[in-house]
Amino acid sequence: MENPKPKKDLTLDPENWDQMRELGHQMIDDLFDYWQSIRDQKIWKPIPAEVKDFLDQPIPETGQDPNEVYEDFKKYIFPYNKGNVHPRFFAWIQGTGTPLGTLADLLASGMNPNTTIGEHAAMYVDRQVVNWCKQLMNFPSEASGILVSGGSMANITALTVARNSFGEEKIRQRGLKAASAQLVLYCSVETHSCIQKAAEIIGLGTDAVRKIGVNDRFEMKVNELETQIQSDLSQGLLPFCVVGTSGTVNTGAIDPMEELLAISRKYGLWFHVDGAYGALAKLDPNYSERLKAIEAADSLAFDLHKWLYVPYEVGCTLIRDAKKHREAFAITPNYLLQESRGLSGGLDSINNYGFELSRGFKALKIWMSLKEHGREKYAKMIAQNNRQAEYLADLVNQHPDLELTAPVSMSITCFRMKRADWDEDQLRRLNREILLRLQEEGIASPSSTILKGKYTLRVANVNQRTRMKDMDLLVSEVVRIGHSIHTI
Ligand SMILES: *Cc1c(COP(=O)(O)O)cnc(C)c1O
Repeated sequence: MENPKPKKDLTLDPENWDQMRELGHQMIDDLFDYWQSIRDQKIWKPIPAEVKDFLDQPIPETGQDPNEVYEDFKKYIFPYNKGNVHPRFFAWIQGTGTPLGTLADLLASGMNPNTTIGEHAAMYVDRQVVNWCKQLMNFPSEASGILVSGGSMANITALTVARNSFGEEKIRQRGLKAASAQLVLYCSVETHSCIQKAAEIIGLGTDAVRKIGVNDRFEMKVNELETQIQSDLSQGLLPFCVVGTSGTVNTGAIDPMEELLAISRKYGLWFHVDGAYGALAKLDPNYSERLKAIEAADSLAFDLHKWLYVPYEVGCTLIRDAKKHREAFAITPNYLLQESRGLSGGLDSINNYGFELSRGFKALKIWMSLKEHGREKYAKMIAQNNRQAEYLADLVNQHPDLELTAPVSMSITCFRMKRADWDEDQLRRLNREILLRLQEEGIASPSSTILKGKYTLRVANVNQRTRMKDMDLLVSEVVRIGHSIHTI
């Protein structure tokens, strides 16, 4: 019997492969033009209302030619980029990305392996990259790790292991009610907000987060930490974890790692390091000693989309005790059974080490980038950013109308324009206006923060495109704009 001839099977592959191939080449050309001319472009421009309207239209019911779709992208999206690919982007802490990293993401997306389980090359690349991360951080080879979407996920992953590893209470099985009293976590007032969010999500609650005060350099006060631990113990609470930050998001401050480690050991607490921004500063010889104790931490979270400059998104959690790591997450339902052979053979499933099941092939951009440049080049790049931040601080110190608002640590420089006879409120408005004009004129993008009541321009540099001369320009433009403002 003959099968009835199908009318036409549907597919999402292109009707015209040659056209799509040509479009792909065009996209790559456009990206390369963009990167190569980025220095001459405005760092940011406001989004016109017409564009916002276009990006508010309802779902298309019928399709469009891919070339037209790409034209829409070029008209409505591409020109209004955030700017963190630009050499003078210094807002928040955001990496630049690299051409090969981008191409790696294209390849990863084209191969499209769900990198969580099974016998295929991506699993081995992922494992190798996690091993390279351990080597970057000088973690023992028996430690475990997982690549996640970023620092926030990396931190909550580590804190979940810390919580589940607490005592003999079987918290994973029985929940927090298994603990005889409230578990308490310690960090500083300068700790990133994701630590508090993580504590809330893993069931500790905001009240269980002790935010210890900081010294003049914005580093956690160790004496206060110890006093707080003792006071909590005396009230029958259960201190379980100290979070030290290597590179705070505000000022790049480094908590006293050795002391935090010693206190954690003394009281039997889990020592976690949030190195989302600054753990990689270990590669700069000027910082390696101060960050040495990271190597002894029970867990470490750090971002690769910040100071390894790879495109978004990817962060890493490392856990010293691989067994505890696996015990916090491993679960094997019937549909995820592993085999000793075939497609379901191979390495331990990655979802035994974190919450996410489906995972992209984000390891590839790190793998290709580390092979392209090698560890030594990254060490020099990170050191270069740190020297640029110090150079900017020198320029600020040399200028009579500018002042630093925090000591420079790592690659963050905080400063502001000052004016004799102007009060704090006027200085806040002056510096805010300088910041907004810098951004709106497309010159440079610092961000702002408030340090000890002082409104501050904040220049955070994890930018692989920045040159020393960008710091000269930044300072001269701040001064130019500032001097053009007489009343506010
Ligand atoms: C950026 C940052 C985070 C959050 O990381 P994401 O990658 O943005 O999720 C946490 N802690 C510190 C210190 C950071 O700098």
